[in-house]
Amino acid sequence: MFKKILVANRGEIALRIQRACRELGVKAVMVYSEADREAKYVKLAEEAVCIGPAPSPQSYLNMPAIISAAEVTDAEAIHPGYGFLSENADFAERVEKSGFQFIGPTPESIRIMGDKVSAKQAMIKAGVPCVPGSEGELPDDPVQIRRVAKTVGYPVIIKAAGGGGGRGMRVVHTEAALINAVQMTKAEAGAAFGNPAVYMEKFLQNPRHIEIQILCDKHKNGVYLGERDCSMQRRHQKVIEEAPAPGIARKVIDKVGERCIAACKKIGYRGAGTFEFLYEDGEFYFIEMNTRVQVEHPVTELISGIDIVKTQIMVAAGEKLPFTQRDITLRGHAIECRINAEDPYKFVPSPGRITMWHAPGGPGVRVDSHIYTNYFVPPNYDSMIGKIIVHGDTREQALARMRTALLETVVEGINTNIPLHRELLVDAKFMAGGTNIHYLEEWLSRHKR
Ligand code: ADP
Repeated sequence: MFKKILVANRGEIALRIQRACRELGVKAVMVYSEADREAKYVKLAEEAVCIGPAPSPQSYLNMPAIISAAEVTDAEAIHPGYGFLSENADFAERVEKSGFQFIGPTPESIRIMGDKVSAKQAMIKAGVPCVPGSEGELPDDPVQIRRVAKTVGYPVIIKAAGGGGGRGMRVVHTEAALINAVQMTKAEAGAAFGNPAVYMEKFLQNPRHIEIQILCDKHKNGVYLGERDCSMQRRHQKVIEEAPAPGIARKVIDKVGERCIAACKKIGYRGAGTFEFLYEDGEFYFIEMNTRVQVEHPVTELISGIDIVKTQIMVAAGEKLPFTQRDITLRGHAIECRINAEDPYKFVPSPGRITMWHAPGGPGVRVDSHIYTNYFVPPNYDSMIGKIIVHGDTREQALARMRTALLETVVEGINTNIPLHRELLVDAKFMAGGTNIHYLEEWLSRHKR
């Protein structure tokens, strides 16, 4: 096992990784920007290094600053968390070239999965079900593009190979709008991602977002830890996640999970990862793979009893997975609400000083958050300030526990989306389970204020 690792991230995930390190008896070096000097995990750290000013390009995205922080503190490995440099293959490569272990997959795996065209091709080869569409990148010839669209069937969606964060996509309903849409998406993709390649998929009308968590070691062992339902989204940003997905049979999930593990073995994947699928009419369609730990990993931890972050570190150190697929049993139901510093209905960010913070508690309640009373939420980063996660024997019990937890939670001094969560947790359709990816936005337009 490593003696010391560097945590190249901020916020709740930095604290989460620090906690995992303590449990493993590994020293954690924390990094921080000038805006995060007062962060809880910095105060709790045995060692912490300032890596630059508040803007992330100068700190959390600053590769030389992060690598030299690892050098001066004698860290052996770097955990990238999520966001920032976590899915940057060049960073992973620089980390390893500088003699550190990157806690994540190889740069090659990140590269394959980072390009959606090559990711999809790898999945098709491994027998993972994908959305029907163009075979690889779309050609330039309008005649050929029209032919592909006709075969796929309208509506179609044009997506950038290098896209991410819900950007670089365009839905096309008619042949008349097709060529123009392809050209616009190409131009935008070139400007935004430095890669003008686009591909085409059938546009699914009312899917759910279901994803499979996997963990692999360096010895060709891999397991899937069931699924998560992340269909409650606004502008492609997840708001509530849960596991298991309501109403999908275990054996249906097992079939997809096994394909995911087969794909991992084929590409020599190591570490934690997530296969994201759209699910419609009983079928799964792969859309992308995330090659890092995800915000919503705790719901899987609660139903599986497996510590995903600790396991990431163990397998990066070369250890074998301490369990096989047969050892994995999923128990009960877990739900996560992301707590954002923002206006609950207008979604305007609400940074500033928290004058009062009272965390919820009780059976089956977990809080992953770095905030405290008198903490200043900086305006420079993502608005998520923590997550409330609950576990129950049944979905009903988990819902009841979440309602109680949200009732107990107090955040004063800034706005948060807690009032929105309180309303969603008593919404009849959400309570029934199985809402699709449009449900939350439709709900919001019905509840305009
Ligand atoms: P990103 O990397 O930008 O998040 P994804 O490929 O994961 O891109 O897609 C983001 C979201 O876009 C999905 O969660 C879904 O809401 C929508 N989407 C993507 N592909 C399709 C499709 N073929 N049909 C319907 N919706 C889609």
